[in-house]
Amino acid sequence: MLARVLSQRRSLQIQRLVRNGKLTLLCLFLTVIVLRGNLGAGRFGTPEKDLDDIRDTISYFRKRHEPRRVLEEASASGERGSGASVDNGNNNYAEFDIRKILKDEDDGVEEFKRDLSKPYSLGPKISDWDEQRGEWLRNNLDFPNFLGPNKPRVLLVTGSSPKPCENPVGDHYLLKSIKNKIDYCRVHGIEIFYNMALLDAEMSGFWAKLPLIRKLLLSHPEVEFLWWMDSDAMFTDMAFEVPWERYKDHNFVMHGWDEMIYDDKNWIGLNTGSFLLRNCQWSLDILDTWAPMGPKGKIREDAGALLTRELKDRPVFEADDQSAMVYILGSQRDKWGEKVYLESKYYLHGYWGILVDKYEEMMDNYHPGFGDHRWPLVTHFVGCKPCGKFGDYPVERCLKQMDRAFNFGDNQILQMYGFTHKSLASRRVKRTRNETSNPLEDVSDHLGLLHPSYKAIKVPST
Ligand code: UDP
Ligand code: MN
Repeated sequence: MLARVLSQRRSLQIQRLVRNGKLTLLCLFLTVIVLRGNLGAGRFGTPEKDLDDIRDTISYFRKRHEPRRVLEEASASGERGSGASVDNGNNNYAEFDIRKILKDEDDGVEEFKRDLSKPYSLGPKISDWDEQRGEWLRNNLDFPNFLGPNKPRVLLVTGSSPKPCENPVGDHYLLKSIKNKIDYCRVHGIEIFYNMALLDAEMSGFWAKLPLIRKLLLSHPEVEFLWWMDSDAMFTDMAFEVPWERYKDHNFVMHGWDEMIYDDKNWIGLNTGSFLLRNCQWSLDILDTWAPMGPKGKIREDAGALLTRELKDRPVFEADDQSAMVYILGSQRDKWGEKVYLESKYYLHGYWGILVDKYEEMMDNYHPGFGDHRWPLVTHFVGCKPCGKFGDYPVERCLKQMDRAFNFGDNQILQMYGFTHKSLASRRVKRTRNETSNPLEDVSDHLGLLHPSYKAIKVPST
């Protein structure tokens, strides 16, 4: 009948197609039977459940190699009695709730409590530190406090809370921030101390740096300058060397302006997120004067009210270390002013809000080494609080700009090795030159950061 309507050839083609179609259908049917036999129909045999089972099975076969080997090793070592602990079998880091293991255990021992009727102090009064330290330095000539004529031995100190950040991504930014500091310090021959311990429970938050700084000054007489830097501050000029010679007659260097402190008593007239403090008696004395507003609770609250009353434009909140320093200098200039250097020629601290949108402009017009508005030494993300719960600025802007600041600084490190970030927004890098067989001749380090003169060591000739 078909042959009557269509031509002989066409009808044969269609018959072949039907035969092939039957074969395909048969194959499909057999495949489903085999798959269902292997996987089971699921608990309820629903199509969704089947689909999940198939997906799991496929991903199991794909991933099976590595995890299986690790599991077998773990159980084998367990059998040998190595004490490998077996948890509930969950090997999924993405879903693990960290609060399960982060319990602050109490050892039952009563902690030392200070006499609350006496004003807070950082420790026993020390009045002859210059003599004690001087003697130590004379007896330990292998640990000089100066590495060169104008190159003091410097310890950069930074840190963060002992707890993980509220959002795990905050810890990623802490990692970027410490990587950035390690890079700057390696290039400039500076040692680093990263603190995660709250040394004095009363001095929490921005006050935690005070007990730590005192402890480090007293434990490291060989250190001439201690450089405190907040965890939310990053180096953005890897080539800028601090003009140490400029501070030879000063003990405390902060970014700021004399008029804003001594005339206006403005609470943002200086910044305590990045400062230099000389290891000497004078510094122990100013730490002692600085600390009493710090203890958490009523003392800090009341001191906050006083600071808001006395300082220009300060919002209402508990006492912070920065406002306290403005207050001390503003009210006791005669006592401290002479040894304090308020630096504004370069950004020992630079407020991120006025810098981050200009990085591209800087790259077009300048080069690292200036440290100032042309290429800022430090970009400090004041108020961003990437490790906390709430900040003063939108989270997205903070994190985006912290990435840009990191990459801006990192490009100066990568250039030594012939790489650069694809853009300030990109984690990815690209090559800036081809590899060669003369690696020591064909260097691309145009900033001279691989072997900078300020890091050179003079070896006595034999
Ligand atoms: N910090 C610390 N331990 C803590 C909390 C804070 O060492 O438990 C340090 C941390 O380096 C942080 C600095 O104190 O950067 C000051 O706080 P923050 O930067 O949040 O203040 P801001 O600069 O925004 O005023
Ligand atoms: Mn800060």
